Amino acid sequence: MSSVADRAYEPVIGLEIHVQLSTRTKMFCGCALSFGEEPNTRTCPVCLGHPGTLPVVNAEAVHYGLMIGLALDCELAPRSIFHRKNYFYPDLPKGYQVSQYDIPLAAGGRLGDVRIHRVHLEEDAAKLVHSGASGRIHGAEGSVVDFNRGGTPLVEIVSEPDIRSASEAAEWLRLLRATLRRIGVSDVNMEEGSLRCDANVSIRPAGEATLGTKAELKNMNSFRFIERGIEAEIARQEAIVRAGESVVQETLHFDPASGALTPLRSKEEAHDYRYFPEPDLVPVAPTEAMVGRAREALPELPAARAARFERELGLSSDTARLLSFRGELGDYYEEALGAARADGGADPTALASWVTVELVPRLPDGDPSASRVRPDALARLVSMVGAKRVSGSAAKEVLTAMAEDGGDPEAIVAERGLAMTDSADLGAVVDQALAANAAAVAQYRAGKEKALGAIVGAVMRETKGRADGGAVRELILERLSQ
Ligand code: ADP
Ligand code: MG
Ligand code: ZN
Repeated sequence: MSSVADRAYEPVIGLEIHVQLSTRTKMFCGCALSFGEEPNTRTCPVCLGHPGTLPVVNAEAVHYGLMIGLALDCELAPRSIFHRKNYFYPDLPKGYQVSQYDIPLAAGGRLGDVRIHRVHLEEDAAKLVHSGASGRIHGAEGSVVDFNRGGTPLVEIVSEPDIRSASEAAEWLRLLRATLRRIGVSDVNMEEGSLRCDANVSIRPAGEATLGTKAELKNMNSFRFIERGIEAEIARQEAIVRAGESVVQETLHFDPASGALTPLRSKEEAHDYRYFPEPDLVPVAPTEAMVGRAREALPELPAARAARFERELGLSSDTARLLSFRGELGDYYEEALGAARADGGADPTALASWVTVELVPRLPDGDPSASRVRPDALARLVSMVGAKRVSGSAAKEVLTAMAEDGGDPEAIVAERGLAMTDSADLGAVVDQALAANAAAVAQYRAGKEKALGAIVGAVMRETKGRADGGAVRELILERLSQ
């Protein structure tokens, strides 16, 4: 029997994601959403929680929520309600957050390989800013509160615990973010907090069906931190279990700078939120027309686009996903492909590889729309490579020039004399190389096939790499067989 110490453990991960919706106004009042305005300029009696005010549900937020539910393949609730989630904190002027509780807007969906537990609507809290060591903020010392964010519409998406590694978690979150960006319901900016992720992590002996006790990592704001935080938490739990102890349920903060995991609160300290139905709001009961409108508003989603790239264009799954999960790259690629098809050149696989492998590292801020390389120009360059009018290495040089100064691939090739040596010229170079490498020729004739390399190398040197290796080989063999 294996001991605890050498058993293999399987991580189990479920994610909870908060998304700020990019509606025009807040969840329950007419205040505009805030993007860095002066503090406390986007407020009204409703979002400041003054007594006697009445909230009204934002129809656009419901529409976006329905779009998210449908994009995640969920069942939409025919009737969902809001609850009050009571707790005291300075960023919560009402003393409760309005959220959905026992009946969420949507549930039981799937994105990729991960099932979606639920999707619900709620409102964001305001923002506390701590002056800390840096002195005064807005003339105040200590902590100040900015109510501009309070009442921003949020959708919370809760996954089932179907994720099995830190890298899978990051990859799935990328797909989710690409999907939300594609449907246009949120800025999904992790640094600015419009997409925030909590990770629930447990481990269990490999092969075991029951779940272990989970710990929750709060509010991680980059893919790299999420991956590192989960990895650190898996290692922490394995060490606990291998030492013969048990993981306790708690909420942790991961500090990316030090890699430390520090407890925020344990199960015993967990809040009792005293949920009760919000009496001031009517239930959300989407009509057929509302659901139809949400369905019609959905474009092709990244997962479907990746599948189409694989199926119809023969791209590898990694390349298809890279292009689709970064929608702007997929758009660039499809535009280049359209141009290539219009003039009969560039193979889809070659073009995809030029976009993902060569263009991406040459992009300013990773943004293809800011690149000086136009999609049709890239398509023409790639078809020149395909037609052996320019070698791969020369084409990379041309692409660098295009990325720096714009311009036309044909013109750059002509200007720099990068065109592939044509076959008449190549014949003469080959003859020269054969004459100059008599020893290698003799070795080849004596059965040493490797000797051919020296002759090919001589031709490539002479043409400065502007010859096609395959064609050179063929020509040499042809000459040697005469
Ligand atoms: P809680 O009631 O503590 O909020 P939930 O059951 O609502 O827990 O689940 C919250 C999140 O935690 C979900 O994403 C779920 O998939 C995940 N989760 C639940 N149990 C586990 C577990 N044992 N290990 C890892 N993740 C889990
Ligand atoms: Mg929960
Ligand atoms: Zn308001």
